[in-house]
Amino acid sequence: MKTDDIIAKVKATASQAGQAAVKAADKAAKTAERFVETTKLQYQIYELKGEVDALYKEVGKLMHAAHQNKPVEESRIDELLTEIDRKLAGLEDLQEKKARSKNRKYCKACGNTSEMDQAYCGHCGVAFEAEPAPETDKAEEPEVPTDENDETAEQAPVEPETEELQEEPQSEEE
Ligand SMILES: [Zn+2]
Repeated sequence: MKTDDIIAKVKATASQAGQAAVKAADKAAKTAERFVETTKLQYQIYELKGEVDALYKEVGKLMHAAHQNKPVEESRIDELLTEIDRKLAGLEDLQEKKARSKNRKYCKACGNTSEMDQAYCGHCGVAFEAEPAPETDKAEEPEVPTDENDETAEQAPVEPETEELQEEPQSEEE
């Protein structure tokens, strides 16, 4: 029997098993991390929904007061509606983040989630917008060890193109 071969084989499987264990632990840690992230987002969504509901209720009260011919400040209703819009936008943002933390795609049209690689919502069929480039975590970039005669170090810095936004003066009505 070729003992060397057997030993080599055993060693190979041992190292593979070790690597698999490391990968599994890594995956478990990532899953746990994701779970915490999802839970946190879920809580924020819950809170924000409560705030939106409170605003809806306030608008409803004002509308009812108007219906009863009681004096109602219209600007207050506008304020509340604007606030609702703002919070709903924030809510959508959180829903998207939550879906992403579960590796899913959030549908703005119906509120369901689909597989990440889908081009259309699996629930309502709406076409998904093209995915923006994923955010790269620069902190995880491995540092390149510097060479003594490193010629690439003398790279000219790239000047970012600045686009100045011109604000149109708004005509003020008095
Ligand atoms: Zn949908």
